[in-house]
Amino acid sequence: MEPTEGGAGAGGAGRGPGAVARRWVCRCSDPPILLATVEGDRVNLKVRDRYYHIEGVQGRVRATCPRCGQEHVLTLGGDQAPG
Ligand SMILES: [Zn+2]
Repeated sequence: MEPTEGGAGAGGAGRGPGAVARRWVCRCSDPPILLATVEGDRVNLKVRDRYYHIEGVQGRVRATCPRCGQEHVLTLGGDQAPG
């Protein structure tokens, strides 16, 4: 049993430089409702028992919170509108 991925496996979080996963959540409850996780231009979705990894995302991703029904918009890529 040798850890073969990464190299410096201290903690296990982080796949490399520049790829920092951040959580996209709705804060209508505690703990917040997780909508997706985002790593650069990659969006990771979990729907029930399956995962979707969408790469090269440019533009807007919209998600509706399953609890409060609020729609959230996430803008990816270089064309980000200021506010
Ligand atoms: Zn919500």
